[in-house]
Amino acid sequence: MIKTENLTKIFRTEDVETTALDKVNISVRDGEFVAIMGPSGCGKSTLLNILGLLDNPSEGNYEFNSTEVAKYKEKQRTRMRKGNIGFIFQSFNLIDQLNVYENVELPLVYLKYGTKKRKQMVREVLERMNISHRMNHFPQQLSGGQQQRVAIARAIISNPGLLLADEPTGNLDSQNGQEVMKLLLELNKAGTTIVMVTHSQRDASYAHRVVNLFDGRVVTEQVKSAMPKVVMEG
Ligand code: ADP
Ligand code: MG
Repeated sequence: MIKTENLTKIFRTEDVETTALDKVNISVRDGEFVAIMGPSGCGKSTLLNILGLLDNPSEGNYEFNSTEVAKYKEKQRTRMRKGNIGFIFQSFNLIDQLNVYENVELPLVYLKYGTKKRKQMVREVLERMNISHRMNHFPQQLSGGQQQRVAIARAIISNPGLLLADEPTGNLDSQNGQEVMKLLLELNKAGTTIVMVTHSQRDASYAHRVVNLFDGRVVTEQVKSAMPKVVMEG
């Protein structure tokens, strides 16, 4: 599903040059659940953004679903993302002017689904995320845990084969964090490939594999288990 070769990202500002990623090689197979760990500033978000086709690498190759996309222009990346990739941001990234229903519906509008189908799909995913009763609320009227559930609903509504999550439990209390992890595991069990950045050893323990980054490089890869764990504690 994913294969990078010497993926490099250099950020250049007026007089500073930061090598955020330095020749990163990672591959993720269909159906895998991979966790990415490493200290703050080591390049985790930069890597996830490139894997999610939100940004381009400066150098190197990126094969997504057997297509070389490293040199894709923004328009091509957007087209490739649609329906294929769901992205969960640490800070939720909901649109303040839209209510819960409209935030979640947005990807389906972009995908040109008809009104009736959209309504059915939005209602289904809101039920699943246990947030239907807040359908007409705006993001600022929701708790952090509720906002994250809405953000996840938006990320999964088009049933993407790849789900990327940047510290999805980072802004949540432990109970909400556990619920999010449980949901990610369910999605993975149902076939969604997941790459998740996390600071939490516990969250990472649910992944098949942990990739450790340090200073823009992959330093170690641990295979946790051949199959994802499904039992949650606490
Ligand atoms: P992490 O997610 O692991 O905390 P990031 O991927 O956000 O790390 O950042 C990696 C490095 O790249 C940091 O040194 C950060 O300051 C730098 N960086 C990230 N995004 C930008 C940007 N848009 N412009 C300049 N530097 C950036
Ligand atoms: Mg980050």
